[in-house]
Amino acid sequence: MEHVQRQLQQVRQSVRDAAAAAGRGPEEVRLIAVSKTFPAEDVAAAYQCGQRAFGENRVQELEAKAPVLPSDIEWHVIGHLQSNKSAKALEYAAWIHSVNSMKLLQRLDRQAGEMGKHPNILIEINISGEASKSGATVEEAEEMIRYKPHNLRVAGLMTMPPFDADETEQRRIFSELRGLRNRWEQEYGIELPELSMGMSGDFATAIAEGSTMVRIGTAIFGRRNYDVQ
Ligand SMILES: *Cc1c(COP(=O)(O)O)cnc(C)c1O
Repeated sequence: MEHVQRQLQQVRQSVRDAAAAAGRGPEEVRLIAVSKTFPAEDVAAAYQCGQRAFGENRVQELEAKAPVLPSDIEWHVIGHLQSNKSAKALEYAAWIHSVNSMKLLQRLDRQAGEMGKHPNILIEINISGEASKSGATVEEAEEMIRYKPHNLRVAGLMTMPPFDADETEQRRIFSELRGLRNRWEQEYGIELPELSMGMSGDFATAIAEGSTMVRIGTAIFGRRNYDVQ
């Protein structure tokens, strides 16, 4: 577990450095430690170093880990959320980054009401238009932004560049997400403070482009044996 703690400290420093390089304060960027495929012991090791926000992309895995870990962990669902898993996700997650359709948004809103929950959600947008990515189109996302949920706090936007994107392409995608956020805040008189963008390979670029939440797995926990998207 020592490697997790050491790597966590290194990632924290790199996140702080990237914020400083962008002229931003360290408190402006939150680190979400993405623990998918790693055991609860690894989460506990990071927890011991003060890490409280963890990301999982499969509800089944979240359901297995959350009950055996401290209850003050803030769980973030970051992966594609099937509608039959949405209630389970709400049971544990304080944040859902991957709300990618109006149907899911309305379903989560209704279920959160039934469960007396008030989670934070982010609208996931597929900026690159890549077919394999699960985010909403810009048009769908705008419609979702205009929807006024009763039980959810729409906190901002999330995106993920294609795996093979170079730095120029990554930067363009991150900058476009920020542009959409700025435009919609103005146009609809709302606040969308959070931009969830940046992973192990591109978080410095994302921070330079205004990310407020970086979702980092590999750089903290190591390489995954199998990859779940
Ligand atoms: C796995 C995953 C991450 C973390 O990716 P790393 O490259 O391991 O840092 C971030 N966001 C989402 C949506 C993921 O599925």
